[in-house]
Amino acid sequence: MTDTDLPLIRHWIDGALRDSSSGRTSPVFDPARGVVAKRVVLADRSDVDAAVASAAAAFPDWSETSLARRQTILFRFRELLNERKGELAAIITSEHGKVLSDAGGEIARGLEVVELATGFPHLIKGDHSENVSTGVDVYSIKQPLGVVGIISPFNFPAMVPLWFFPVAIAAGNTVVLKPSEKDPSASIWMAELWKEAGLPDGVFTVLQGDKVAVDGLLTAPEVRSISFVGSTPIAQYIYETAAKHGKRVQALGGAKNHMLVLPDADLDLVADSAVNAGFGSAGERCMAVSVVLAVEPIADALIEKLTERIGTLRIGDGLRNPDMGPLITGEHRDKVAGYIDLAIADGASVVVDGRGIDVDGDEAGFWLGPTLIDNVPTTSRVYTEEIFGPVLSVVRVASYEAGVELINSGRFGNGTAIFTNDGGAARRFQHEVQVGMIGVNVPIPVPVAYYSFGGWKQSLFGSAKAYGIQGFDFFTQEKAITSRWLDPSHGGINLGFPQN
Ligand code: NAD
Repeated sequence: MTDTDLPLIRHWIDGALRDSSSGRTSPVFDPARGVVAKRVVLADRSDVDAAVASAAAAFPDWSETSLARRQTILFRFRELLNERKGELAAIITSEHGKVLSDAGGEIARGLEVVELATGFPHLIKGDHSENVSTGVDVYSIKQPLGVVGIISPFNFPAMVPLWFFPVAIAAGNTVVLKPSEKDPSASIWMAELWKEAGLPDGVFTVLQGDKVAVDGLLTAPEVRSISFVGSTPIAQYIYETAAKHGKRVQALGGAKNHMLVLPDADLDLVADSAVNAGFGSAGERCMAVSVVLAVEPIADALIEKLTERIGTLRIGDGLRNPDMGPLITGEHRDKVAGYIDLAIADGASVVVDGRGIDVDGDEAGFWLGPTLIDNVPTTSRVYTEEIFGPVLSVVRVASYEAGVELINSGRFGNGTAIFTNDGGAARRFQHEVQVGMIGVNVPIPVPVAYYSFGGWKQSLFGSAKAYGIQGFDFFTQEKAITSRWLDPSHGGINLGFPQN
């Protein structure tokens, strides 16, 4: 089969699939087979203009659509997504590689945000204060921004867009989503579902592309906000460029999540949790545990338990539902594997080496097995950089304080966890640690939809986290109104502020 025979994934503009005028395309791999299975169009500037113009044209009607009508459409979208989530999971597995049950898990977390958004009228209500001065009332109303841009990463092709667009659409905005070019089909599937749910054309647009599409959204005057999720260097670029162009921006970046294990912890629970959170989705999660900080003297016992469990993991084609699937591309797999050589060169000991493992799948797939590295020096790039693959590092520390100091000296602040049976230590940890999302005896603390998701430091640029109340604040702008209706008690001229 030549490249031109491959299925082509297109834009979704004005409620229909659209070709690109650019002629540029990018390969979409089947990571479990290691082949190019589809191609996706890459936007040029005229595609960006068409997508933004369609979203801008849809905004006046959508923003004036009654809350009741919007709610009906959201409920229908929720029902359809729930009924047909199996189809979406299969698409995610075929392009991302994660195992089917995990693809189902990401949809379940996305559904939570749709469910939150169905209750939006309560979340975009203003306040009202009567008689702030005699006969004067003050109240606030929240209105949508206009066209909002969402730029998402490869690792959650459904869940990350779902963190933002149900909230944005519920609040009356129109959305242009630029998904990752590595697994772009999930977005088109969700666009078709919106249409079936009765969403008017132009309210939800999918613009396929790379930096050209992103830069187009960052600079288009009609785009009022940018919600970005991806690696830290790109998040910083997005934040600075979007802000320079007068946009509201939330840019969620990378992570290096530590799990601090105190000597009194239940080591079986710790080992189960570290393996689940370290190797789930092949470590390609921003909330993956990447470093276990073992407070001595437990490290040897913990390494033994981790090694036992890793030995039971089945690696293979996600459609056959093993424990762990392939990585997203061959290039990424090679980059992650390079950290194993680096660890050896830096004096760490590789306890389990994931290279050259047996898999239940095609040999050409982008495989790398679970890897466990002990005694990782904190000066090594294996420790300081985000690896984003199935590599779990163990760093031995002498005390709770030494562990917290390491966590707090890092440049990321996305997620962390403490494992202990000491409530006082856990309480102290949650107070002292400089991280946005914390688990206590829970390894992946992704907050539920009615809280908000986001880290600190270089894991989040901008002040607003995703979804929850902060999501509704981000996608609305407030007006404060001071009003007085004339009554016979007009007080005459007074140039000062009213005081009573
Ligand atoms: P990425 O930064 O490479 O890509 C993210 C998006 O930016 C994609 O849509 C991509 O097309 C676009 N992009 C890439 N290069 C660009 C450039 N030079 N200019 C403009 N746009 C560009 O990230 P990824 O590899 O797709 O995803 C993995 C990263 O995302 C990891 O660092 C992970 O930690 C992070 N992530 C963070 C969170 C979070 O909530 N903090 C969640 C998921 C993923």
